[in-house]
This record gives sequence, C-alpha cells and structure tokens, in this order.
Amino acid sequence: MQGATLSDAQIAYGRWLFAQDCAFIIAAAGLGQLPEDDLPEIAFAGRSNVGKSSLVNALTGRNTLARTSNTPGRTQQLIFFDLGARLRLVDLPGYGYARAEKKSVKAWTRLTRDFLKGRATLRRVCLLIDARHGVKDSDREIMKELDKAAVSYQIVFTKADKIGREEQEALMEKSRAELSRHVAAHPDMLMTSSVKGWGIEELRAMLASLAEGAPQEEPPA
Ligand code: GDP
Repeated sequence: MQGATLSDAQIAYGRWLFAQDCAFIIAAAGLGQLPEDDLPEIAFAGRSNVGKSSLVNALTGRNTLARTSNTPGRTQQLIFFDLGARLRLVDLPGYGYARAEKKSVKAWTRLTRDFLKGRATLRRVCLLIDARHGVKDSDREIMKELDKAAVSYQIVFTKADKIGREEQEALMEKSRAELSRHVAAHPDMLMTSSVKGWGIEELRAMLASLAEGAPQEEPPA
C-alpha cells in the first residue's frame, strides 16, 4: 500500500506518540496568534469533506477535531494541537467546496498561505485526497503552491474502503506518475480508511518519525 518500509520500532513509536495527550492549543486567526515555533509541525490539508476530521480523530484515537474544524467561523482558522509535547498537529482550512473550484482555492486565506510559506518548523503537509475522486484541479493548485514554497508534502488517500483493491492500485499508479512532476512531493503515498482503520498505524509511524526526540533508526546489521 505504500513505498516506505516501516520497522516494528517505528510502528511502536508511532503508536506510543499518538497515545499521548493531544491538547488543543489555539485556533489562530492571524499570524500573531501562532504558537511559538519551537516544535516540529505537521499540517493537514484537503478539500472539504475529504475526511480530514475523521482521519485526525482516527490518528489520535479521540474526537480531537470534532468540535473545532467543523464549527462555522472557525473554517478559516489554523487549529493547533500539541501531541505529547513532541509534535504539533495543524488543521488547515478545507478548500474546493464551492462550485467554482478555482475561486474557492483562492479563498484559502492569506493566513494559510503565509503560514505555509514562512513556518520554519513545518515539517510536512499531509495532503488528503478522496480515493474515489483522485487528485482534482484544486488539489493540483495547492500542490503547485507547496512546490513553490518548498514545503514537503505527502499524499494521503482517504476513504479507501469505498473503492476496490484494483482501483486502489490503479489510483496509486496514476498518482505516482503525477507526483513525480512535483518537486516538493514526498514519493510515499498512503491509502487510508478511518472507518476500517487502514493505514492509520503506518501514518502514525511516518509522522512520529518527524517528532522531537524520535528515535533514530539503527542501520541494518
Ligand atoms: P472533513 O470535512 O474533511 O473534516 O470530513 P469528515 O471527516 O467530516 O468526513 C466527511 C464525510 O466522509 C463524513 O460523512 C464521514 O463519515 C465520511 N468519511 C470520512 N472518512 C471516511 C472513511 O474512511 N470511509 C468512509 N466510508 N467514509 C468516511
């Protein structure tokens, strides 16, 4: 389901980290409200309804995003969570919900763009893509912006339970070709389902490897 091979130790560390306290820090409406940039950060982006809340909740094993990202008025804020004082999770506003896709990407606030461009501690953006729909034009625009800002990002497919195995493989194949043209895209993609729990352990391990104090992998003997 993915390119990277994760060791048992990485999986165990991911499981441990995501079982730590996950505390809401702030819903930032301006750059002045951002938490101090003293911890590695992972941001989650995707079209509205892609399954972002469900995925973050599956990762943390609790309703982390239930009352935050879906509350009207908070939709253009950056929502920060502290995970075990080792990693920060950042929920970015959803995009692409309006009829005119491009316009709604433009509506992705200046705040989001400024954050993505200027945040030294931002280690990775998880770009969530609905497995039924694949990469859409609005996603491509975001990918271009991330390329330009040299922000490392990784495609995470959501709702994989809604398509068959062959479709999953075809989607990975097609997306791999597309990703190779994007300079800041991480080559590893992940198929997930929050409903079935698919890919959650792997995503925890991948993200935990970017956390403060993550154990370094021993080179093979
Ligand atoms: P958000 O707007 O991106 O935060 O999306 P939500 O997490 O609220 O999910 C949008 C819809 O997709 C909801 O009806 C969820 O129940 C559904 N959904 C989310 N993840 C999955 C999944 O892995 N499998 C299936 N079948 N449905 C999902």
